Amino acid sequence: MVYKTVIIGTGPGGLTAAIYLARANMEPLVIEGPEPGGQLTTTTEVENFPGFPEGIMGPELMANMRHQAERFGAKFRTGWVRSVDMSKRPFTIFIEGAESIQAETIIVSTGASARYLGIPGERENVGRGVSTCATCDGFFFRGKKIIVIGGGDSAMEEAGFLTRFASEVVLVNRRTELRASKIMQDRARASDKISWSLDRTPLEVLSGPLGVTGLKVRNNASGEEEVIEADGIFIAIGHIPNTAFLEGQLETDSSGYLIVKPGTSQTNVPGVFACGDVQDNRYRQAITAAGSGCKAAIDCEYYLEDVQSNTADVQLKF
Ligand code: NDP
Repeated sequence: MVYKTVIIGTGPGGLTAAIYLARANMEPLVIEGPEPGGQLTTTTEVENFPGFPEGIMGPELMANMRHQAERFGAKFRTGWVRSVDMSKRPFTIFIEGAESIQAETIIVSTGASARYLGIPGERENVGRGVSTCATCDGFFFRGKKIIVIGGGDSAMEEAGFLTRFASEVVLVNRRTELRASKIMQDRARASDKISWSLDRTPLEVLSGPLGVTGLKVRNNASGEEEVIEADGIFIAIGHIPNTAFLEGQLETDSSGYLIVKPGTSQTNVPGVFACGDVQDNRYRQAITAAGSGCKAAIDCEYYLEDVQSNTADVQLKF
């Protein structure tokens, strides 16, 4: 069997594409990987997804989207996509420990994973004071002291954003030099709410019954261990787009994010589309991922219509 379209990944991008394609009778197959529902399943309450004035829990939002896609006929299967052969048509998707799947089109929506430090206390306090998204969780830290870890543009941006809520933001970076652009550094330095704890290596997230209480760091200059007290810790040390399984068959930028033709979801391989964070290093929001999933579904439909009507150059429509 050759599927008309296979969607790889079940974050808001992939599931929105599934809803649209299922409603268009395209019978999409959705492959659910190791983190069903994507990054939103690791957050608690989502307050900025339009349509939920009282907020909604991240896992519930994703379960709703999945249910909505299933209601219109999308099929789901669990599997770890090991690799994809895009060199000939139909495309072949190789799944770990299972039979391969063939598809006329593919929508890649495998997301990006926030990079974690890998220190004790970190993972178990996600949702209890540790976060990787200021836009998502900053609001919960009104009047609190917050640590932001990282020295890149993300850390500067997160720190600046968090000053709207926090009483104090401490920026912790493992080196004295910051990787962030000068303009972003200057902006952060201009804030009297941001203090700096540079040349400090994070060692452990400290917590109590109510959640995070601080961060243990090593002062690299003195070698001494120090504790920085805080109610929240935002880790902003970058994201890793989940593109390794594509083995370089799709064009990426220098950070590994898929490149799509501006304004569309089309990758450099006709018939392969991308949506969600795997192609978005800038906004990384559930709603922008969902919007891009809608675009991918529509692009995919147009593409298949064009192939069926034997249009000479299927890319012209984009
Ligand atoms: P970056 O890779 O630029 O910075 C990551 C930061 O995290 C660095 O300071 C790095 O330290 C630190 N880090 C990495 N691993 C660890 C670790 N294990 N322990 C402690 N610290 C660590 O990532 P960003 O997410 O900040 O930015 C990614 C891209 O997105 C960049 O190109 C950036 O310019 C862009 N961006 C642009 C924005 C804008 O223009 N508004 C906003 C946000 C991002 P070290 O320097 O020592 O390696």
